[in-house]
Amino acid sequence: MKLATKIIIALVLGAVTGIILNVTSPELFENLNKFVFGPLGTIFLNLIKMLVVPIVFFSLTLGVAGLGDPKKLGRIGVKAISYFLITTAVAITIGLILALVIKPGEFGTYDVSSAKFEAEEAPSIADTLLNMIPANPVQAMTEGNMLQIIVFSIFVGLGITMLGKKADMLLKVVEQGNELMMYLVNLVMKFAPYGTFGLIATAIGSQGLSAIKAMGLYMIVVTLSLVIHAIVTYGSTVALLAKRNPITFFKDFSEVMVVAFSTSSSNATLPVSMDVAQKKLKVPEPISSFVQPLGATINMDGTAIMQGVATIFIAQVFGHDLTFTQLLMVILTAVLASVGTAGVPGVGLIMLAMVLQSVGLPVEGIGLILGIDRLLDMLRTVVNTTGDAACAVIITETEKNKQTEQAPTLSV
Ligand code: ASP
Repeated sequence: MKLATKIIIALVLGAVTGIILNVTSPELFENLNKFVFGPLGTIFLNLIKMLVVPIVFFSLTLGVAGLGDPKKLGRIGVKAISYFLITTAVAITIGLILALVIKPGEFGTYDVSSAKFEAEEAPSIADTLLNMIPANPVQAMTEGNMLQIIVFSIFVGLGITMLGKKADMLLKVVEQGNELMMYLVNLVMKFAPYGTFGLIATAIGSQGLSAIKAMGLYMIVVTLSLVIHAIVTYGSTVALLAKRNPITFFKDFSEVMVVAFSTSSSNATLPVSMDVAQKKLKVPEPISSFVQPLGATINMDGTAIMQGVATIFIAQVFGHDLTFTQLLMVILTAVLASVGTAGVPGVGLIMLAMVLQSVGLPVEGIGLILGIDRLLDMLRTVVNTTGDAACAVIITETEKNKQTEQAPTLSV
């Protein structure tokens, strides 16, 4: 049986087990969660997280050295960042429109007085961007600061290219390090079905069904927006810009979607997502190793959708009407918030505080959606990672065109 099939079966089994235990015996769930589901999930999560930092470092360094041309890197960077920002703005707009039309906050009764949420200090976007250059690259790696690791790897890659023969041993080391990491990803993924089963059983089993019922419409609006964005925005850009069949794209990428769904973390999904992009989606290593870690850090369309819908939902529950200018403000701050959201579970909700504050909405409203956010986090992480892969595929194809355009002059 193919690994992808096994993972999907594990996902379904985990969900069914979680639901059955949730409904029939919460006590048994507690015990099984402590001794079986929890440990299975943690082992898998740690196994893949173990590979994230070395994979980004080796593969991006090798990628930059392989490009051999800083101009090309700059061009890919501009394309990627433009795609990320534009699609994120489109994503929030879809979320805002659906929330304004369906009005999830105006149906049902919400106990506003019970909504409690203390806003944590969200990292300022300006600080994140200013701190992109690591004063201490080793610290960047121990802390898993992705933007800093990206910048350091680009420097090392460029240095290796410039030094040429003088650094050819280092290039070999990076090449072999990268080989090793790719081998380990495949090894670790053999455990994926068990890990997925544990993660999903935990996530579903620990949900309060009454909370899900109460928040049903909000969850439907977020889910609907995520699906529309994935199919319409990614589907059409992959078809029009990359001229590839979107169905094949989604099918090839489905294995990664399941991992993103069960881990709720773009960062943890990165090793698998790069592996699949390079092998199945045929994205060349230099592009994949640059675009995907960057996307996992700054491109969070799914998170932005949740933030857009949540803002309107909270405004409706608290009886605030947002003006058109305030809606534009929401789009702007949610784009920035999604850039600043780290690819780990739950951070999107913390960054939501920033969006709410920008239009004067009560931050404690987050308390209303807190209970069911874990489930939506799983879904939005799927969209977050798919967006990065769509971008990588589009850049792959447009770069190919560049090469063919240049080919006649080169061959002369
Ligand atoms: N869990 C999301 C991710 O890793 C971030 C978030 O929305 O909380 O992509």
